[in-house]
Amino acid sequence: MAMGAISERTIVGAKTLALGLLLVLAPLAWAADIRRSAAILADIPHSVRPAAMYGVAVVLSFAALVIAPFLRNHFVRCAFLLLFLAAFAVDRIVLATSGHHLDVTVLKLLWHNRSLAGPVLSEYASVIAPYCLATAALGCVLAWPPRQGLGLRYAAVPVAALVAVPIQYVSWKGALDGYPSPFLVAARASWVLIKPSTHNDLPLEPVTLPRDRNRASMFDTIVFVMDESVRGDYLTVNNGSIDTTPFLASSANRIVNFGIASSGGNCSVASRWMFRRGVRPWQLPNQPSLSDQADGIETGPRTTIWQFAKTAGFRTVYIDPFRPESGELHSGLSPRELGFVDERIVLDGPRHQRDLEAARLLVSTLSRKDRTFLYIDKIGAHFPYDANYPDDFNRYAQPDGSRFIYARHTRNDLMGSYKNAVSWNVDGFFREVFRDADLGRALMVYTSDHGETAWADSATLWRHCEAEPVSPAEVWVPLIAVTGDKAFDAALRASATRSFDHATHFEIFPTLLVAMGYEADAVTARYGPTLLDVATSRRRQFVTGDVIGRDARRWFDASASPVRDASAR
Ligand SMILES: [Zn+2]
Repeated sequence: MAMGAISERTIVGAKTLALGLLLVLAPLAWAADIRRSAAILADIPHSVRPAAMYGVAVVLSFAALVIAPFLRNHFVRCAFLLLFLAAFAVDRIVLATSGHHLDVTVLKLLWHNRSLAGPVLSEYASVIAPYCLATAALGCVLAWPPRQGLGLRYAAVPVAALVAVPIQYVSWKGALDGYPSPFLVAARASWVLIKPSTHNDLPLEPVTLPRDRNRASMFDTIVFVMDESVRGDYLTVNNGSIDTTPFLASSANRIVNFGIASSGGNCSVASRWMFRRGVRPWQLPNQPSLSDQADGIETGPRTTIWQFAKTAGFRTVYIDPFRPESGELHSGLSPRELGFVDERIVLDGPRHQRDLEAARLLVSTLSRKDRTFLYIDKIGAHFPYDANYPDDFNRYAQPDGSRFIYARHTRNDLMGSYKNAVSWNVDGFFREVFRDADLGRALMVYTSDHGETAWADSATLWRHCEAEPVSPAEVWVPLIAVTGDKAFDAALRASATRSFDHATHFEIFPTLLVAMGYEADAVTARYGPTLLDVATSRRRQFVTGDVIGRDARRWFDASASPVRDASAR
């Protein structure tokens, strides 16, 4: 053997070792990310086909990583390795510095701030350098020319992985993201490139509504509480045959109950996003439509609740229990919108403690006696229901005393665990608030982002968010107001009596504006009637599908009177 010639066995051995080190550095072959995606799939009934497609994409991407270093063609081998390792290194550095993989938001951030690359790179050099050096060293070994190597037809595997992962990623709108980073970064980059602009890319408009010259706000504190997946007829105050919320029922004289209201949408993001902007149904016509005309989000009002609160002199505080799991920009939030939030309090304790923690923060805010607008997102009763309350909370249990388990997906388990979640997070929240809070100079409005239809058909995919057919129960939500202001309380009570079971989310936004001190006629002219004057004869409607972008969406009628679930006992 000639001096310096390296045997095929040595090359194969070195490349295998380098691949192994790469997987360890990944870290640990992305096992945690893949496991998380598998758990999402496992929670979906009848998920065999999506799970198989996801599995194929994952296997293809690992096969591509293994095959690429052994391709004989120098150009093709080096091109694949350069692409894979560059994505790997960038993702690994972002993970090391932020604790999260390189997601779409970070990708956009890096791109928009590319002019700062020089200073940032030198600032983080000590963190970045080891990963760059390690990746480059492994890259040299992996790119080393194999003596025999694989023919060009094997390049089909990396190509297939680079096609399959982005397609899978886009079809799940980014929700399923457990892949080896070289392919995930490619998928996210292509998503950023192809994703059309959304309503969140439009600038927000400043407040132009006049303030009532005869009065300032009569409230020091205005609180809005958006619960999660809490269905209106699963509260005792709205359904005598169900005993989920005995404390709230015993406090019935303290609350103004509008009965079962309808939400603006049957899906979290759509409902929450529309609510925070006071979006009116006319602003979002059914899609697809044949016209290319600008819809009403572009032409109509585009101002968030935070802006109205700030302009009226309130400090804006957002209590956010979702960021730890759902990321910085969940619920259709945008950096523009968050710019008007003075303080964002992220709750990152155990999931079942977050609603009670929110209640305690509400109590302490009320005791400050300064002008605060407090927006509380709640954990509520999202599936899997049994993740929302402690293991030893068994208000509802099987006849033998054992726990209801959501994952079993039987009607009894779904219903039992849902009622436990409502009981723990709704009754528990009101108990904390009413025990200690002074609502004398406050207004609190409580509702949920949408309802739920879990038990109608235990095979239902999402239990809300359905596109068609939609059960109206998906938009049946509670709507409760509490205030210590006698005149406002009396007006709300009179209205609630007239319009019991007929209010909607669309009346809440203008109510909050009037409470902040904006001129009632101007508010109603732009945002429709308030809860003080619900027009019971109008058509009630809700939207399904995409409201932030221009994907398919459709409005449905919700005018029929809600029917209480009598089987929930
Ligand atoms: Zn929701």
